[in-house]
Amino acid sequence: MMLGPAIELGLTAPVLATDPAESAADVAARVRIGRHDDEQAVRGIADEVEVLTFDHEHVPAAILEAIDRDGLAAVRPGPAALVHAQDKLVMRERLTALGHPCPRWWRIGVAEDLAAAIAEVEGPVVVKTPRGGYDAHGVRIVESAGQAQDWLDAHGELLAEELVPFTRELSAQVARRPGGEAVAYPVVQSVQKDGVCYEVVAPAPGLDAAAQQRIQSLALAIAEDLDVTGMLAVELFETEDGEISVNELAMRPHNTGHWSMDGAVTGQFEQHLRAVADLPLGSTAPLAPVSVMVNLLGGTAADLDPGARAALAGDPAVKIHLYGKSVRPGRKIGHVTVVGDDAAELLERAHRAERLIIDGPDGA
Ligand code: ADP
Repeated sequence: MMLGPAIELGLTAPVLATDPAESAADVAARVRIGRHDDEQAVRGIADEVEVLTFDHEHVPAAILEAIDRDGLAAVRPGPAALVHAQDKLVMRERLTALGHPCPRWWRIGVAEDLAAAIAEVEGPVVVKTPRGGYDAHGVRIVESAGQAQDWLDAHGELLAEELVPFTRELSAQVARRPGGEAVAYPVVQSVQKDGVCYEVVAPAPGLDAAAQQRIQSLALAIAEDLDVTGMLAVELFETEDGEISVNELAMRPHNTGHWSMDGAVTGQFEQHLRAVADLPLGSTAPLAPVSVMVNLLGGTAADLDPGARAALAGDPAVKIHLYGKSVRPGRKIGHVTVVGDDAAELLERAHRAERLIIDGPDGA
């Protein structure tokens, strides 16, 4: 999704992909096949470019540090910032030290640490693997230390957090250039289904202007404190009393920002490129009072074309994005966006398109 904007901005963007069948490899003009954790492969692509950036956070820091040190390419975001999106324990420690709001958390080195955390909250806690998690893989609610022993054995250290009684999840996106110029997008509301982002409404309904601004300022402060370059997504919990705490950080275009491709003057993929290439940032102004994004999660129909055709015909104002991935149940295979005035009406239209695409025109 960065490649379209790269073409428009006149940037040459070779891609490192693990497999020629990956979506990005399928559409990029220049592709190198290699793994993101293979030092030679990453150095190979770094050698071809001025700036190296990512669409996930799993490139090992040591590889990036060496590229940076050897002056092979500018790594953006830099490895010292990226570690806060790679390692949830590092993130919790740093945000707490900076005074940014976090749920209560504990570093778990041995089972007794976890037993103590459970005893302290007198109830279940959320246990997370510090690294490698996504879409709630690596997140487990436990009531006894034994329920996380397998992870403790496998990972050595875990993060435990209080189970936040959140009323909803919010997400704040900002973009920042190497020199510090930064912009904020409207704060959005996200709804997960089975741990996967499913619906986003921008801006978050019912969030007053003061709260919008407070949360945008928090995200801008985190970007500056951690010296982030590119897009930063701050995922947040909001509780009944309107208090917020940070769940996690992503330093790349994020699912909760997909709405901006159709709902803002500058989409997040273009903005990420502008930021990492050190170009002036684009306007984050919304194009309509409300934007709604719904993820397309794979169902049983393997061929999306008939349903997509029906959805295109059924509501010409709904924008459809298909990723060219093979369909597996629950897999993110695309998203739809629609903009307008009324969130409930837009959600209904987005879900109608979603059902047509996922189930096919005749229903599954
Ligand atoms: P991932 O890295 O897999 O996205 P997250 O840390 O974002 O994992 O957690 C996935 C989901 O689990 C969150 O979106 C939220 O719904 C739930 N969750 C995570 N941490 C907590 C917490 N401390 N309290 C309550 N729910 C949580």
